[in-house]
Amino acid sequence: MRISSFSIHPVAVADPPLRSSYGRHAPYALRTILVLQTTGGLTGISEAHGGDGSLAALEAIKPMVLGMDPFQMHALWMGWGRPEASGDRSQTWLVPGENPRDARTRAFAAVEAACLDIIGKAVGKPVCDLLGGRARDAAPFSAYLFYKHGGGGGLGGDAREDEYGECLTPESMVRQCRQMVDFYGFQEIKLKGGVLEPELEIETIRQLMHAFGPKYPLRIDPNCAWSVETSVHVGISLQEELSGGGYLEDPTAGMEGMAEVRRRLLADGIETPLASNVAVTGFDDILPAWQSDAVQVVLSDPHYWGGIRNVQRLSDLCEHLGVGVSMHSNNHLGVSMMIMAHACCVSPAMHFACDTHYPWQTEQDEVLAGGRVKFKQGAVVIPDKPGLGIELDMDQVARIEERYHKLPFRKRDDAEEMRRHVDPNWQRVLPRW
Ligand SMILES: [Mg+2]
Repeated sequence: MRISSFSIHPVAVADPPLRSSYGRHAPYALRTILVLQTTGGLTGISEAHGGDGSLAALEAIKPMVLGMDPFQMHALWMGWGRPEASGDRSQTWLVPGENPRDARTRAFAAVEAACLDIIGKAVGKPVCDLLGGRARDAAPFSAYLFYKHGGGGGLGGDAREDEYGECLTPESMVRQCRQMVDFYGFQEIKLKGGVLEPELEIETIRQLMHAFGPKYPLRIDPNCAWSVETSVHVGISLQEELSGGGYLEDPTAGMEGMAEVRRRLLADGIETPLASNVAVTGFDDILPAWQSDAVQVVLSDPHYWGGIRNVQRLSDLCEHLGVGVSMHSNNHLGVSMMIMAHACCVSPAMHFACDTHYPWQTEQDEVLAGGRVKFKQGAVVIPDKPGLGIELDMDQVARIEERYHKLPFRKRDDAEEMRRHVDPNWQRVLPRW
């Protein structure tokens, strides 16, 4: 069996005006759907980051994938030249999925998922059963809350209903969370911070704790918006709220800053773990982070970490080091949803409910035949079907691919959206507080 066809579909997905320290989400998020076909008539599918960078990396790997045996993924990885060994890996100033250092790894990850889908179909087993079996039958996800402006995403006649309304206060965030928890059944809560004054974000977490109680672990992620001083202040203020299964994610920029926050919190007797998908984005970051105690929870991701098997490897490594594991998310569709669910279920050490942006996208944009992935008590159950357990609706892929080609942008730029809609002089400043 050989791979005989490799087709890339850039797509645009409506996205509400969510806020973070990067700025404001554009009306459409960009993704890429990959479809591989084999000489034996099998199809493997995958999903990757979007825009020109992602497309270029997939085009670069395409000649190596065409003609390959989908069972022989190591040959593809090793045949593609050695990754660069030096350079700044930090994600601090880059939008997720756009670190040039990860381009090769991300493209490989997309191909790996599609190959695993093919192999699963060839042997009649779900992907997770190819990789050691299920450590859990369902992948738990967290309610991923965002401060947001009014609007549901999309433009003009393609605008979506604003399901969650404007959320720029602690009170409206509690309402957003209630809506999300009621609908999806999530049992852990993540707040994207770095948007309002830190005191207001502290108040938001307190109100969430008051409304939902200690059974719902809480985490906050300001994407490096705070100084060491402010990070320590928030850590002390939320000592109680972030304990018991929560964490403080990337409060400040850089490995040294994170290590300093950790030292100062420990000196105050506060053991709230620090999590990261900014200071730690690849295997070569693990040891420095561990040695300096900068990061106690690593956020995996089957896209930029290099695939489902690399999430599994990361989970094993972290277990040996006594480091916690969680999972990062970007805006995504149902294919990534299932890739993330399989990655979670084949990773014995996955200590937290994984992040997902899935509630922010709608049925109208889903590319899966049969519609959106369903949640059961906040978790995605691995279907008893071969491969990833999903199929594409190619008419829908064509529709949202056409929309991509009509968009005037090919790269995520949240700062530009801020300047357009909120403040013409807005710049991303770190630390902002
Ligand atoms: Mg993060």
